[in-house]
Amino acid sequence: MALPGPNDPCPCDSGRKYKKCCQRVHQGDPAASPEALMRSRYAAYALGLVDHILRTTDPSGPHFEADTARWRAEVQAFCDAASFDGLEVMESQVQGERGMVDFRAQLSSAQGATVMAERSLFRRVGGRWLYHSGLRRDASGADVS
Ligand SMILES: [Zn+2]
Repeated sequence: MALPGPNDPCPCDSGRKYKKCCQRVHQGDPAASPEALMRSRYAAYALGLVDHILRTTDPSGPHFEADTARWRAEVQAFCDAASFDGLEVMESQVQGERGMVDFRAQLSSAQGATVMAERSLFRRVGGRWLYHSGLRRDASGADVS
């Protein structure tokens, strides 16, 4: 997907203009909240902004990979294979330097359409929110073991 213009709707589905939503975070500004970071990451997947995904992943979390070239290729492949059809944020909370966001994302690929539901956990490091890890949930919102 080509980058939206500043006045186009933000790909994170917020209903706001790109320049009033995820654009500045994509350009390197710190996200104001875990939800803002989560939205910017969803939009980055939709737009193929691989570097944004890498630089907003907590190095102490399970998704960080030391092999940057391989990691970048994996994220790029995921971006290319899926289309990102909608995002719904159910709940978000902040406690000090930690945050969580419950969301549902609608994805489709050659295998068909799916709903990815996750509780994402975030950590603020040096004033920047970073994605730490996520718990997958089934569509009803229950934890998936
Ligand atoms: Zn946005």
